[in-house]
Amino acid sequence: MASESGKNRGFDRGKGHDAQAFHVIDYLRISITDRCNFRCAYCMPRAGVGYRPHDEILSYEEIIRFTRATARLGITRVRITGGEPLVRRQCPELVAKLAAIPGIEDLSLTTNGALLTEHAEALRDAGLSRLNISIDSLNPDRFSRITRGATLAPVLAGLEMALELGFAPVKVNAVMIPGIEDELEQFVALARENPVHVRFIEFMPIGCHQEDVRNFISRQRILEGLSRFGDLMPVDSPVGGGPARYFRFDGARGTIGFISSMSDHFCENCNRLRLTADGKLRNCLFSDDEVDIRPYINGDSMELAKVIIDSMNSKKFDRTGEKPLARTMSQIGG
Ligand code: SAM
Ligand code: SF4
Repeated sequence: MASESGKNRGFDRGKGHDAQAFHVIDYLRISITDRCNFRCAYCMPRAGVGYRPHDEILSYEEIIRFTRATARLGITRVRITGGEPLVRRQCPELVAKLAAIPGIEDLSLTTNGALLTEHAEALRDAGLSRLNISIDSLNPDRFSRITRGATLAPVLAGLEMALELGFAPVKVNAVMIPGIEDELEQFVALARENPVHVRFIEFMPIGCHQEDVRNFISRQRILEGLSRFGDLMPVDSPVGGGPARYFRFDGARGTIGFISSMSDHFCENCNRLRLTADGKLRNCLFSDDEVDIRPYINGDSMELAKVIIDSMNSKKFDRTGEKPLARTMSQIGG
């Protein structure tokens, strides 16, 4: 049960686990739309995915009601994601309402950056302080190939604006797919010259359509490639904790991080729940188990709390998935 401080330190690990070991589940990822203006090869099929009709997508009111309920049960950190969150109208209004929920101490957003120059100021004014921008390549041609047609320049302009507006930390996510080894120098320069935390993410076989991504690249391979630019010293996470491990080159303003979900399972320390845009509550990225939470959001608040607690309690901490999943990453939110 949730303690008086709101921390859910008492949640059991679930069937088959040592009942003495408890986990704090304090992080919620909310996908606010399944729509996206990119078609990244590692995330969705070339033809795109069938979008859910608008009436199947949670309203902002429903998202807020759900988040309030989770905050009462110990969630303190919320990340807004998509699809691409900035394609949904009035995202800053949602940010302002989420930021005002008692108990939510940390609010962040993950974006592909294409629409960031339009929205960055309103997002900051609404109370957003942390931004993750996904930039898989700093080379315009490779960027366009990976995203199947998007343009790099507006994304870099969005990154620049985010830094100018004082977002901190600003993290840049780059999925490690073939070709990235040839760009390490540019990513290192980005993290040396700017207060930017570049995170290399191992490709995860989520969704079954990644026909263009075949070769797995591990953290070890990238670390070896980075060693020619100097010594990388391990450092603490720049706010936010989470599964990433960070390093810094001497004198650099930013850091280099790794999210190695394949070569270095971090399920043991997983602290998160996910809400999909169509109102499904998921307690593991690698499992298709989900609860249709929408009827509960619109029903009795005690029942809603009970379903959330059940989801927390049935969370598994040893990955059982590792098989193609029913949803693509764009439908889960990363
Ligand atoms: N559209 C936004 C963006 O791209 O930042 C937010 C949603 S996207 C699904 C969230 C994160 O998931 C991005 O950083 C993206 O690179 C990552 N991602 C998507 N598919 C992935 C995969 N198969 N393996 C690893 N990371 C993936
Ligand atoms: Fe869209 Fe983000 Fe998936 Fe790329 S990674 S297709 S930007 S949801």
